[in-house]
Amino acid sequence: NRRVILKRYVTGFPSEDDMEAVAGATHLVVAPGSTAVVLKNLYLSCDPYMRGRMSKHERPSYVPDIVPGEVIVGFGVSKVVASGHPDLKVGDLVWGLTGWEEYTLVPDARSLFKISHSEMPLSYYTGVLGMPGLTAYVGLCEVAKAKKGDSVFVSAASGAVGQIAGQLAKLTGCYVVGSAGSDEKVNLLKTKFGFDDGFNYKKEQDLNAALRRYFPEGIDIYFENVGGAMLDAALLNMRVHGRIAMCGMISEYNLEQPQGARNLSSLIVKRVRMEGFVVSDYFGEYRRFEEDMVGYLKGGKIAYIEDVAEGLEKAPVALIGLFTGRNVGKQLVAVARE
Ligand code: NDP
Repeated sequence: NRRVILKRYVTGFPSEDDMEAVAGATHLVVAPGSTAVVLKNLYLSCDPYMRGRMSKHERPSYVPDIVPGEVIVGFGVSKVVASGHPDLKVGDLVWGLTGWEEYTLVPDARSLFKISHSEMPLSYYTGVLGMPGLTAYVGLCEVAKAKKGDSVFVSAASGAVGQIAGQLAKLTGCYVVGSAGSDEKVNLLKTKFGFDDGFNYKKEQDLNAALRRYFPEGIDIYFENVGGAMLDAALLNMRVHGRIAMCGMISEYNLEQPQGARNLSSLIVKRVRMEGFVVSDYFGEYRRFEEDMVGYLKGGKIAYIEDVAEGLEKAPVALIGLFTGRNVGKQLVAVARE
């Protein structure tokens, strides 16, 4: 049972040396009377929040630390190979929290979602049909309360969450502009995902001026994925009664000292509501989301791009790549194909 462990707590920017592929326990058994399952892992998800679990914590985080020597924990798509849970049988497909290893013993299978649409590509359950897709859906619809005619700005717009948030905003009838870190990604926003426009933030001298150019009358909704200078520029460009859905601040995850936004007084001047959210609070809405999203995908209303690394050994480099923008679309790792 090959597995990837955290070798040491990460400080600053993560490196491949912080993780290591090693051999793990070979006999995983379900204790009689428990609701445990043994999973064969097929696809593992690389998600920015995982960086937060790899540090020794002084700052509050919404997920507990991974301790050095332990297997890395993350979302994945898996097949049940042994089960003590009455609703899961051998051969069922699930998504949820698992380990970065070939086989995982999950002590309580109630944390897993059974996959009801196995006709869809299974890897989609790490992204558009899994946690990131639900994040985009609740962030845009429930937190930001998007409605027809809104002007929407999405940062990290070609990524797992951003590409779906932008397309859902288009389906709602919004004007949508995204930012991304390469011309290739900006091109995808416009040609593949149907955004109205997009820009490469790395080529802009002045982000405030860039946003003024794309939103001369201001932004109704900022779907925030990056924080830092982009948040500050967005704050200056919000419209009266705008909404900022605080999804993530990836530009700050590797900083020892958070930068903090300087233009928060815009919230008062423009009467803007800025609200943070964590997707796990919305897991109860997963089935409704899954049906909606499967419908959009089958109807060709949502396009989706993923970036697949082959093999468990590639997982560390794939995860690190999120912080340099190496990934084009949703980053995942294929461990086995059924
Ligand atoms: P992505 O697929 O978007 O990958 C991360 C991307 O972030 C990179 O490709 C890169 O794109 C961009 N990025 C990396 N470093 C920086 C930087 N310093 N400045 C600006 N952009 C940077 O990841 P996800 O879609 O999975 O996640 C997007 C955001 O959503 C993250 O902040 C994440 O933490 C958050 N999130 C929050 C959840 C919640 O419950 N609140 C749940 C899931 C995700 P580029 O080339 O464009 O720079």
